[in-house]
Amino acid sequence: MATDKYMKIIENISDLRQTVTAWRQQGLTVGFVPTMGNLHAGHISLVAEAHKHADKVVASIFINPMQFGKNEDIDSYPRSMQADQQKLSTANADLLFIPTAKIIYPKGLNQQTYVDVPNISQGYCGESRPGHFRGVSTVVCKLFNLVQPDVACFGLKDYQQVQVIETMVNDLSMPIKIIAVDTIREPSGLALSSRNGYLTEQELSIAPALSQNIQWLAHQLKIQSRFNNFSDFSGLANKAAIQINNAGLKTDYIDVCHANTLQPATKNDTELVILAAAFCGKARLIDNLRVSLPSKA
Ligand code: AMP
Repeated sequence: MATDKYMKIIENISDLRQTVTAWRQQGLTVGFVPTMGNLHAGHISLVAEAHKHADKVVASIFINPMQFGKNEDIDSYPRSMQADQQKLSTANADLLFIPTAKIIYPKGLNQQTYVDVPNISQGYCGESRPGHFRGVSTVVCKLFNLVQPDVACFGLKDYQQVQVIETMVNDLSMPIKIIAVDTIREPSGLALSSRNGYLTEQELSIAPALSQNIQWLAHQLKIQSRFNNFSDFSGLANKAAIQINNAGLKTDYIDVCHANTLQPATKNDTELVILAAAFCGKARLIDNLRVSLPSKA
């Protein structure tokens, strides 16, 4: 039986600071889970992870306008505040912060100081969604300054996002431990996402082709890595892209990269990640998989 306990819901900065300061004065540590709402089991797993590392857990719901491009879905982004509050309360979150855009960006987006994390923000989702990671790093930096957590949990489903946040925290010497949490999936393999609600029944039946082809590519890498001269990562990735398209999706990108730098994989790399994004009807799905290959003697 879930034991719902009292969860504070706070909309303004001064109440948030007051509550967190009181916790700190009692010697309690704070974990933080930033989200854009329409919560699913993936988000809730981040709350559960935060509880393992901190005495108090703060979640936020803020649909951040700075990370949406001009033609993207901010107006139609799914909102379900009542259900979200219930889920967070059941997950024993201690505080839910739900600021408005006016509170986060009082001078408007054009006058807002921003954080741009170089290099790691550039390719993949950074290329397909110009300005996206600037929006993400800016809002996360701002939320970190407001909540002042000891630890913050992010989902590995957004692999590049985790790398961007870790780089920001290191580069700016923020005293926050970033915890990366495994992706929660449907039984079909489809990664849970707030945007999966855009999928029709027919699209839901083909959407698992993304994770299936990432798995296929990982398997091929393991086979090919037995041959010393193998370096045709992009050839294999292109095959996976064709298979994803043949399943009825439209591949945005699929690449094999070094797991930390996200540079295209080279012959002697052993710690890899497959990063992929594909359109399925109105939804743009992203997914990834870490692959460790045996090192070449
Ligand atoms: P979002 O609300 O989409 O901005 O996501 C908020 C946080 O939940 C991010 O750290 C995401 O990476 C994480 N997240 C989203 N989907 C999943 C999932 N399927 N499994 C685990 N974490 C997830």
